[in-house]
Amino acid sequence: MHHRPDQGIHILIIGGGIAGLALGIGLDRRNVSYTIYEASTELSFAGAGIALGPNTTRAMALLDPALREAYDSISTKNQSLGKEHHFADFLLAEPRFGASQGFHGAAVASEHFVRSGAHRKDLMGVMRSLLSTDDKIVFGKRAVQVRQVGDKVKVEFADGSCVEADAVVGCDGGKGVTRCAVLGGTYPDQVDVAYSGRYVYRAVIPPGKGQEVLGEYADDSKIFLGKGIYFAAYPLSGGGFNFLAGRQTDEPWGHPHWTCEVTKEDMLRDFEGCDARLLRLLEWASPLRWGLFHHLHTPTYHNGLVALLGDVAHASTPHQGAGAGQCFEDALVMSHLLARVKSVAELEAVFEVYDSICRPRAQEIVRTSNETGLLYTMTHPDCGEDMDKITSNARQRFHWIWTHDLEGDLRQAEDGLQASMARRSTTESS
Ligand SMILES: Cc1cc2nc3c(=O)[nH]c(=O)nc-3n(C[C@H](O)[C@H](O)[C@H](O)COP(=O)(O)OP(=O)(O)OC[C@H]3O[C@@H](n4cnc5c(N)ncnc54)[C@H](O)[C@@H]3O)c2cc1C
Repeated sequence: MHHRPDQGIHILIIGGGIAGLALGIGLDRRNVSYTIYEASTELSFAGAGIALGPNTTRAMALLDPALREAYDSISTKNQSLGKEHHFADFLLAEPRFGASQGFHGAAVASEHFVRSGAHRKDLMGVMRSLLSTDDKIVFGKRAVQVRQVGDKVKVEFADGSCVEADAVVGCDGGKGVTRCAVLGGTYPDQVDVAYSGRYVYRAVIPPGKGQEVLGEYADDSKIFLGKGIYFAAYPLSGGGFNFLAGRQTDEPWGHPHWTCEVTKEDMLRDFEGCDARLLRLLEWASPLRWGLFHHLHTPTYHNGLVALLGDVAHASTPHQGAGAGQCFEDALVMSHLLARVKSVAELEAVFEVYDSICRPRAQEIVRTSNETGLLYTMTHPDCGEDMDKITSNARQRFHWIWTHDLEGDLRQAEDGLQASMARRSTTESS
């Protein structure tokens, strides 16, 4: 892969999760020079499966057609014929899934939607294999401080080493240090990630076991709703399926980390009164509570030559299956813009335009995802426990996420960059 010597820029990416890898792939494809610095000694994939919507698979294809192809080879869709457009069947979590009160489930589907899901390990594995060379990602490098010094950004690592770059894109996740570099000075109250009031237990149900317990209910994605609790299940490649059990409480999180070990009895107590099949599936989850945290408000995604991309910008609750999707969309816009840069002098304008395109949409996803959590836990102010209202609300609320005009974003990015550069040169010459 030949980088563009005429451009003379080098981008430093902090964090090699889905966001960092997606940006690396986009920059490789567009011959922009970069290095990823990752804190762990190897790729880390906390969690089990990941479900992606059609906007995400389209973003993958635009980022690099090879990425979309690789994803298609490791992902799986709903299994039943005629259910390829189902987001999920909604059922009740109570015994007999609501049949006792005459409710037999309702499909939330749309012609705009195609669900696919994969193991995170497989997804990140294929993403890493698409980086042009092995040395594009440097492991065991935990950034501890990021600051702009003149027209360079200096990054200090926990091992005492230090590097300089023309610009830094922080992809270091919800608690990332780059968030402080961008927001710490002007918006110190918005640096920390906030607890959403919900936590989940997660499991991958081995092939065959889900079918054994749930029968036909295991074939396609399902959401089981209850007052203050919910379960989500969807198939993964290889016959297994992803299972998640969530709970909403009024209590603060109260733990220093995002996960908290509890006893198996505590875990089962959280879902007392639910259908025995769901409780059997819960046996596959380790009794580890994952707090759901989010960045409901992020006033800007850049400060000078440092930008935020992925969860460090917009960590979200997972209720719309859209958090990782935004990593791909961000990476698409950012790499498209960086490929158009002719010199380091244009980098600030790139970040300004990236912010103007990606932030409104990503923050709306964080907001609506939180609201969707209320729907699933039957506590949404407009729908409460009324399944008709819940399902009709769900049927209309995700379209804008799935049908987004990504090519339009790219056109807007090009126009925005041109306009911003013209503005800057007028200001300089006056
Ligand atoms: C329970 C749950 C279920 C989810 N399910 C879905 C789903 O089905 N579909 C979906 O689209 N999204 C889902 N999401 C959201 C999705 O997982 C995230 O949006 C996505 O993984 C974010 O990727 P990221 O690379 O921005 O951050 P991360 O995955 O957090 O990666 C950050 C990387 O940066 C590294 N790092 C951190 N600090 C430093 C540092 N100081 N220096 C160097 N490296 C550093 C970390 O080691 C890590 O590798 C879910 C989230 C949760 C919590």
